[in-house]
Amino acid sequence: MMEQYLNIKNKYKDALLFYRMGDFYELFFEDAIIASEALDIALTKRGKSNGKDIPMCGVPFHSADNYLPKLIKKGFNVAVCEQTETPEEAKLNSKKGPLKREVVRIISPGTLTEDSLLQRKNNNYLGSISILNGSISVAWVDVSTGYFKSRLIGKDNNSNQKQFLTNFMLKKDFSEILISEDMDIDYIIDEWHPIIKKQSPSLYHYQSCFDQICSYYSVVSLEGIGTFTKGEIIAAGVLLSYLKLTQCGKIPFLSMIKSENINDYLEIDYFTQKSLEILQNLSGNYEGSLISCIDETKTASGARLLKQRIIEPFYDINLIQDRYDIINWILGNNVHINNYQESLKSIPDLERSLSRISLLRGSPRDLLLISKGLLSIKEIANNLILFQQKNLKPKLLNSILDTLKIDYTLFLNIQKALKSEVPLIVKEGGFVKDGFNVELDHLRNLRNNELNQIMKLQKKYSELTKINSLKIKHNRMLGYHVEVRAIHDQSLRNIDLFIHRQTTAQASRFTTNELVDIETQILNSYEKAIKIELEIFNDFAKKILQKGKEILNIVHSISELDISFMVANQSLSRNYICPNISNDKILEITGGRHPVVEHQMRLSEVSFISNDCKLNNEDLISLITGPNMAGKSTYLRQNALISIMAQAGLFVPAEKAKIGLFDKIFSRVGASDDLAKGQSTFMIEMIETSLILNTSTEKSLVILDEIGRGTSTFDGLAIAWSVLEYLHEKIKPITLFATHYHELTALKENLKNLSCHKMSVKEWNNSIIFMHKILDGEADKSYGIHVAKLAGIPSVVTDNATKILYDLQNKSNQFKQNSIKKVTTVNSKEVNDFLDEFDKINVDDISPRESLDFLYKLKSKRQTNGKNKFKK
Ligand code: ADP
Ligand code: MG
Repeated sequence: MMEQYLNIKNKYKDALLFYRMGDFYELFFEDAIIASEALDIALTKRGKSNGKDIPMCGVPFHSADNYLPKLIKKGFNVAVCEQTETPEEAKLNSKKGPLKREVVRIISPGTLTEDSLLQRKNNNYLGSISILNGSISVAWVDVSTGYFKSRLIGKDNNSNQKQFLTNFMLKKDFSEILISEDMDIDYIIDEWHPIIKKQSPSLYHYQSCFDQICSYYSVVSLEGIGTFTKGEIIAAGVLLSYLKLTQCGKIPFLSMIKSENINDYLEIDYFTQKSLEILQNLSGNYEGSLISCIDETKTASGARLLKQRIIEPFYDINLIQDRYDIINWILGNNVHINNYQESLKSIPDLERSLSRISLLRGSPRDLLLISKGLLSIKEIANNLILFQQKNLKPKLLNSILDTLKIDYTLFLNIQKALKSEVPLIVKEGGFVKDGFNVELDHLRNLRNNELNQIMKLQKKYSELTKINSLKIKHNRMLGYHVEVRAIHDQSLRNIDLFIHRQTTAQASRFTTNELVDIETQILNSYEKAIKIELEIFNDFAKKILQKGKEILNIVHSISELDISFMVANQSLSRNYICPNISNDKILEITGGRHPVVEHQMRLSEVSFISNDCKLNNEDLISLITGPNMAGKSTYLRQNALISIMAQAGLFVPAEKAKIGLFDKIFSRVGASDDLAKGQSTFMIEMIETSLILNTSTEKSLVILDEIGRGTSTFDGLAIAWSVLEYLHEKIKPITLFATHYHELTALKENLKNLSCHKMSVKEWNNSIIFMHKILDGEADKSYGIHVAKLAGIPSVVTDNATKILYDLQNKSNQFKQNSIKKVTTVNSKEVNDFLDEFDKINVDDISPRESLDFLYKLKSKRQTNGKNKFKK
């Protein structure tokens, strides 16, 4: 057995080998040590190798589902090795030694298909990176949904490539990443090391990758599919090879690979995604995120599409407008939104069932789910198609409805064939309805008859022996047998008919020739019946796969409808409105609200205060001042979130919104301490800010919240100041900038496209009330001490703070005056005189002696007047 184990293990060195022995998966040697630690289970030993104990640990096969996720989450691959013959088969072939075993599948974090191992609303991506002539490409696939894409990240050693790649990978949140063994590891951040799976460089060969893709899609060229860079083809080809390897030859059903262009989307980099709390709040929880607040989709695939949209919204007016049109049509025609949403709820996760079927991992339940789901979809489609004349419907809705018009007979047939409650495993049969297949019915009848015969035999034997308690029973060891209590043992042994098989303390067991005959018949008909059921299953599975592409299209269409109904509903229940989207440079929002804060406040007595925002080519930058807690951050984020929702094709929380298409949205928050990362807070803040200054364009939206906060006041102020100047003068994106440095408001004198706004507060009874309303102008006071009072800091401390503040402000004024003095000194008459003298010199005419004299003069002046004077 150990020999067999080692042979198999040798082929799967990179995976933990789950070696099936009876009811357990056992692990040995190094694997056992790793797994026992990762799973926190006992490490034991079994036998010896080279005189040393062999470490071993194991998990029961029926609870493997509890253990596998832990290993997979930690990034391990698990090779599942099953017994591929039964003890009976081995006996038949009179074979010696251990049962035949084979690895049937390698489970890796990026290739999961089981619902129990996956999250319903999240895609599970396996990524693959290739670097060819300095250009980075990526391909990624979600095996559980058939989603397959590729993208060129950056060309020709572009200096920002590394940043782009890191950002892209952080955003995609890959479960597993394939790279070539010879790839520069510099690109990889620490957290990814466990999920990086290095591949042999020989796989990164263009032609063989190209062939790999062509053969998967049964095409001779990729021209009909799209345009790909060589790097994308390599990345995608390597992915397919890895799938073949881990799925032991089977490849899942994948949609046509699609090459994406970064410019197809509104770009939201990872830092922005985090700072705007799009998928998670700042503490890393789902609650409090944008997605948690707006996701009211009813289907799993709808939820996944919404998530994708919100992190990569459109950058194309037509695509956005098409979505608005459907929602407005639903609203304008009094379509019964709730009824449709109720029907959508009953649609199961078709993509995942389809993927399991394609990997021969499907169950009768998957067939049933697919057919039930598609029949519900048919009903939804019919209702919508009948609802109004086709030509009155929006364009996108018509094309969605067109994809739903397929022949649904297959799914009706599956419904007719399968019982409404079906087992989860195919191979034991029992899922086909009576009356569907004549031969199956016949075999089942035979079996019932035979069972009747057994009952008759039992009666006969009982009468014959006069033992009332005689029973015919069945177990795995003996099959059908006659059982009597042990005291009757002798009376049966006396009758020739009964052949003794076994005696225990309680019971004696016998068989008879009649019984053996019946049992053989039963077994035969049972096996034949299972074979027929399997044929029925495989036939349906094959037909479903033939329709795979159509099914994926249908799922996509239904996800679109799901989102449309969701938004239509939100328009009514939450007062979200349809934005006006254009190519102008504009962000004009009337009565805007923060979707998440508003949603969280829905149960409280106070309501969210709405605010306007009016930015365009003239009013480019809004500088917002106000004390802590006044609502600056909320205001900034709500405007960014509204823009994102608008470009994702959703309605927005506002009374009116005019939004010019943005190419990128940046949001940065001056970080509070983040020691865990080990990098100084300020450094992170600056790295993040540098990405904005290097990559934003005049079509971008920039949100800067307290930038510069991470360093000393004057440093921070200076940096904030020059960042603002740079944005205003050089890049000119629409910018919202919140700060508690009042000094910055002086910028409005020099920067003509910058306007100042403040969050209004009212003083009342020595404390302040936050009005949460944005007004023109600048805040004039620091309210920090008031806030401290509100927070319950003892008055002795706050009173003292007031005095200190007074002193500090005086000093700071002195400092300002000093610096002003310095500036005037530099511009003084003496300097100008000197510069005049300097200008008179003609360098070509001057002799060496004269130039030396001039230098002496300069030196002596500088010494008499103090060193700082000519510093400038
Ligand atoms: P700042 O950034 O100025 O310190 P925040 O934006 O963090 O202030 O807001 C502080 C708190 O005030 C928020 O947690 C929120 O509960 C509340 N708030 C902010 N804006 C509004 C608003 N427009 N309406 C109601 N409450 C608000
Ligand atoms: Mg703030």
